Amino acid sequence: MRLRNVPGARETIIESYFSIQEPKTYRGKWEEEFGNKNPIHIEVGMGKGRFILEMAERNPEINYIGIEKYSSVLVRAVEKTEEFEGKNLRLIRMDAEEIEEVFAPGEVGRIYLNFSDPWPKDRHAKRRLTSTRFLERYHHILAPEGRVIFKTDNRDLFDFSLEQIKEAGWILENCTYDLHNSEFNEGNVMTEYEEKFSAKGNPICRLTAFRHD
Ligand code: SAM
Repeated sequence: MRLRNVPGARETIIESYFSIQEPKTYRGKWEEEFGNKNPIHIEVGMGKGRFILEMAERNPEINYIGIEKYSSVLVRAVEKTEEFEGKNLRLIRMDAEEIEEVFAPGEVGRIYLNFSDPWPKDRHAKRRLTSTRFLERYHHILAPEGRVIFKTDNRDLFDFSLEQIKEAGWILENCTYDLHNSEFNEGNVMTEYEEKFSAKGNPICRLTAFRHD
């Protein structure tokens, strides 16, 4: 994603009801923040937030937390919340590297990874959000029935992710190389990138995975 400095982004984020400052202080206390025991689903690398906002609108019985590394991108999601009337959404500016410092073991029910940055160079493979390094972190914060759900149009990243899932001892629950023409498309919520790349004719790959132990 091309990054531009957005004047006033930090102020807009700080002033928003939906954005969380000092997320590490909420570790193990997200139920208190939402005021209920509903499941918590997170999106890592949410970009401009269309997916997480629509999921939160459709599913008021689930609490959603969107994570984004850059203020200049997060601010676009914050702006979208102006029309959002629910209370089941929070947005955090943070690096996913710190995810275990923000969520306690078992605190998260689902992790969505949508069109994660591919980091095509081999020497950057560890930065990919589906690398074994990240899968280990996800395993630590996911509840026993927790799932990782990953979508991308990047076939190399998808194939890499399938290998990493196997290597990390996760179980592949389902997998498609053409989501929009598959049985799994019902209820699919499109992300900004998904709309853009599927309009170009790129098939969308999607997998769901979990780990038992
Ligand atoms: N999920 C959105 C979509 O599908 O439209 C955005 C996809 S965009 C290619 C990837 C996003 O992930 C960018 O906004 C980027 O800043 C964010 N990102 C990349 N690495 C991250 C990390 N380590 N922690 C948090 N966000 C990250």
